[in-house]
Amino acid sequence: MEINPHLEPKGRGNLSVDVKLRCPKCHRTFEPSEKLFICPYCNQPLEVIYEPDEKPSFDEIRRRSRIYGIWRFKEFLPIKTSNPITMGEGSTPLVRVEKLEKLIGVRRVYVKFEGANPTGSFKDRGMSLAITLARESGSKAVVAASTGNTAASAAAYASRASLLTFLLLPRGKVALGKMAQSILHGAIIVEIEGNFDDALETARRLAQREEFYPLNSFNPWRLEGQKTLAYEVFEEIGVPDHVVVPVGNAGNISAIWKGFKELKNWGYSDTLPRMAGIQAEGSSPIASAFKLGLDAPLFTENPETLATAIRIGKPVNWFKAWKAVTESSGTFEVVSDSDIIRAQRLLAREEGIAAEPAGAASIAGAIKLAQNGYFNGDETVVCVVTGHGLKDPDSVKFHPTTRLRAMSVDDAIEKVIKSLMERSNKNREIEIKRQQVAS
Ligand SMILES: *Cc1c(COP(=O)(O)O)cnc(C)c1O
Ligand SMILES: [Zn+2]
Repeated sequence: MEINPHLEPKGRGNLSVDVKLRCPKCHRTFEPSEKLFICPYCNQPLEVIYEPDEKPSFDEIRRRSRIYGIWRFKEFLPIKTSNPITMGEGSTPLVRVEKLEKLIGVRRVYVKFEGANPTGSFKDRGMSLAITLARESGSKAVVAASTGNTAASAAAYASRASLLTFLLLPRGKVALGKMAQSILHGAIIVEIEGNFDDALETARRLAQREEFYPLNSFNPWRLEGQKTLAYEVFEEIGVPDHVVVPVGNAGNISAIWKGFKELKNWGYSDTLPRMAGIQAEGSSPIASAFKLGLDAPLFTENPETLATAIRIGKPVNWFKAWKAVTESSGTFEVVSDSDIIRAQRLLAREEGIAAEPAGAASIAGAIKLAQNGYFNGDETVVCVVTGHGLKDPDSVKFHPTTRLRAMSVDDAIEKVIKSLMERSNKNREIEIKRQQVAS
């Protein structure tokens, strides 16, 4: 795919000349190299520090660009290439959800629907960059530990780049749709007796070997792709007051915050959003510690939640995420599995948006924050819905449904008409009750 002649390689290989890696904790900077991801002094994942030599206005980007997706913002990405591994990831819908506005009690609520990415989650944004670099690094294979969505995305993008893919998955804890994708794209699947954190440790060790390129979010180049979510929101509605993000390994909330900070540092915007990170009750090492007033997470050995994408006991990017929330005067919140299922149902049945449970955690979080009086009523809130409902078909078992069985055409018609009348009567009763309450 021809992206733009402007993207010809320059300076050091594929990396832009002004790229450095910096430790978020000790602030030491490092020259980028293929195997450097983590600060050797602090054991924290590094961040990419990048100063674009050209900063087009958003009007210019809009005018010139027939390109949708993350490469639309190529000047803001640290990799210079005319040939990225891409499937048009990004440019996902920002959907206004008016019924949720009423429920949450703020002026505007938007859902940034990351389920609309090529493999159905935001992971594709980062995977495009990471796989592009993996190809350039000359690695034989890529390796990823995953609760499912990184696996699905890695398998798809590595196929395009003709790289062998090894996926490390916690056995029995990956949602059906994600497993199906990994199989379909031909990855080699290693099911580990253990949890995600064990899988990640395996990936980190394998990544020290020359043959393997790691695709987990300790790889800071992936987060550079994910930060484009902030640019897209900014391009459509400016800087919102709040951004609510489900948190697992804590890379995405860090990446989105980085995007908004860059927009401010580079003079595009005057304000910053407040970041809210949402974790599930049985898997809340960061959010629980934050709420207790501690200054570091309480890692857990046995995280549990039906939102498997955020079932992580030792989030590798906790330090960056903690900084994102404190710097932005934001917060962390904990939601229960039943809060998540209720939010999944609301989103699907009131707004038509299908989220996997982890994706609906941001909605559950916004509802809970509203109940706690976190919003003043006048704000714009963006909830990031991180993954598609098709990912986890098993999760529909928690939702009531009407299924009628018919023996013939006439029988089917009769049952449909009867059901319609029942529903109309029920709706009428509800409407009468609502009016009685109102008057
Ligand atoms: C990966 C993932 C998350 C968690 O993102 P982190 O960057 O690990 O915090 C949340 N929801 C879905 C659907 C995911 O796939
Ligand atoms: Zn350090």
